[in-house]
Amino acid sequence: MRKTAVNICRIILAMTFILSGFVKAVDPLGTQYKIHDYLAAMGLAQYSPDILTLAASVLLSTVEFILGICLLFAIRRRLVSRIVLWVMIAMTLITLWLAWTDPIHDCGCFGDALVLTNWQTLWKNVVLLIAAIIVWKWPTLQPRLISASNQWIVVNYSVVFILFFIAGRSLYTLPQFDFRPYHIGANLREGWQRMMDGEESPYNDFFIERAEDGEDITEQVLNDEGYTFLLVAPHLEQADDSRLDQVNLMYEYCQDNGYPFYCLTASTEKAINRWCEMTGAEYPFCQTDDITLKTVIRSNPGLLLLKDGTVIRKWSHNALPSEEELTKPLEESALGRQPGNSTTSKILWILTWFVLPLLVLTLADRLWAWTKWLRRKPQKGNSNNPINNISNMRKKIVAGNWKMNMNLQDGIALAKELNETLKADKPNCGVVICTPFIHLASIAQFLDQDIIGLGAENCADKEKGAFTGEVSAEMVKSTGAQYVILGHSERREYYKETPEILKEKVLLAQKNDLKVIFCIGESLEEREAGKQNEVVKAELEGSVFNLSEEDFRKIVIAYEPIWAIGTGKTATAEQAEEIHAYIRSIIAEKYGQAVADDTTILYGGSCKASNAPELFAKPDIDGGLIGGASLKAADFKGIIDAWKK
Ligand code: PEP
Repeated sequence: MRKTAVNICRIILAMTFILSGFVKAVDPLGTQYKIHDYLAAMGLAQYSPDILTLAASVLLSTVEFILGICLLFAIRRRLVSRIVLWVMIAMTLITLWLAWTDPIHDCGCFGDALVLTNWQTLWKNVVLLIAAIIVWKWPTLQPRLISASNQWIVVNYSVVFILFFIAGRSLYTLPQFDFRPYHIGANLREGWQRMMDGEESPYNDFFIERAEDGEDITEQVLNDEGYTFLLVAPHLEQADDSRLDQVNLMYEYCQDNGYPFYCLTASTEKAINRWCEMTGAEYPFCQTDDITLKTVIRSNPGLLLLKDGTVIRKWSHNALPSEEELTKPLEESALGRQPGNSTTSKILWILTWFVLPLLVLTLADRLWAWTKWLRRKPQKGNSNNPINNISNMRKKIVAGNWKMNMNLQDGIALAKELNETLKADKPNCGVVICTPFIHLASIAQFLDQDIIGLGAENCADKEKGAFTGEVSAEMVKSTGAQYVILGHSERREYYKETPEILKEKVLLAQKNDLKVIFCIGESLEEREAGKQNEVVKAELEGSVFNLSEEDFRKIVIAYEPIWAIGTGKTATAEQAEEIHAYIRSIIAEKYGQAVADDTTILYGGSCKASNAPELFAKPDIDGGLIGGASLKAADFKGIIDAWKK
């Protein structure tokens, strides 16, 4: 139920963020104008140069789009859900202010694609905020669509796509999807006539006044049944003048073929004169409303071709028709016809270059994960003690940690009972018991070490000498033991074993051919502060990431959240899997994916026969390090049998 709720919320948020980021990126200039409107409403417009507002527009659309993609693929679930929550809190507060004071009538959250009133936007954001809270509360209930190791491909591909192929391309040419009333195919004459008849129409501020005498020629232009070119330059002072030769060429072409050509601008007479002097422009100038011109075409200057009052072509100044295209009159040229169904072809382009590659990647990733799982599956039936297996492949292990329990007689009795039980019913995994030092030599005498490995719970950080009470790695090895637990939280906490001491112990253990079960894990306070990843990373870096790849391959990691050890509190299978996957990912960063894939990572902390099957079913959990439940043969056997389920 909770999982369903989280995932419904996540999909709603993902789709909204993707749509909102996409429509903003499709029209970066439109988003920039909207940002400018907000700044003006706050009295900050004069402090925000155009270049900054444009950068903010591109950044905003990219961030929204990527957050949506991360939500959809469940990438970096904790971090992303936290960011989304903060974004939604900020957005809801802004829209509350908008709804209350109404300084801007359209919030612009979906560009021109979907225009909402301020109150509609506020309610939409309240719903999304609730969804963001639900996802933030249980981020790990979102199933990943792609494995952690391949997530970077999705993120980087999406950034490149939205930044260069959508926003960049729209800026260089024109928005690939035009949601404004002046899109190709729009009949301006009809719309304008409706407005003149007093009906609802988006063309209220559309007028064309000749600059020289102020005469309104809107009707004349819109009623012309032939072709008319409109060069649209809201502000000539800021217009791009790099392709003016081409504009002049267009004008000559129009004169040769008898097509009217007007430059529509909101600039002053002085600016028009300066423009004519600078560019040699001879075409007539007309005055039009500044905002209308910015809405007509997202390019300064841009070119519009009307036929019979309908927009049939639009060009940015970067993509004006070439000289070769202007050899024939428009009646005989493709330039004079409305392009075919460009919306369908643009959607197909997006499907081909964005949706399809991500779909293929996701399927390949799932297939890879599945084959990996298949390859690993038979190992669950490996009944040999892993230490005797020369291959470095990842092992399934259940290891017992007796701690300071059992006198010699009781310990021997327990080891014998376990030995007989597992000889009679062979385990599907490697089994190890780690006992107090004094038991080792006696137990080693009768233990069938093909079935059960034997290990110590500690060893000294010195090779030998005057260290009263200590037991060296060499001594452990001489008892017949093959394993040693190092870095257990009880030793770190009660005996102040630092990362440096543990580093020494690991080196000495390996020097004496002992296989190290190296424990890491965070305290309750660290978990509550969300620092678990930091903690385990530091513990690995402090004591085992100094090893060569060959030596690291001999290490078994045991992740033991301190708050779960001996407390009866187990990490949920999802919590454990998440951090195991993280541990594997940092091993991959350090030693490469192959080593990470081969590293055995055990879970420890109140693991019992009842919860072991769920924990061991997780792809990154390779078994358990068992404390309390390893002190009774039946309990321990129950956990070992989890690998048979
Ligand atoms: C341990 O101390 O290694 C341990 C996992 O203990 P328990 O299973 O008792 O929580």
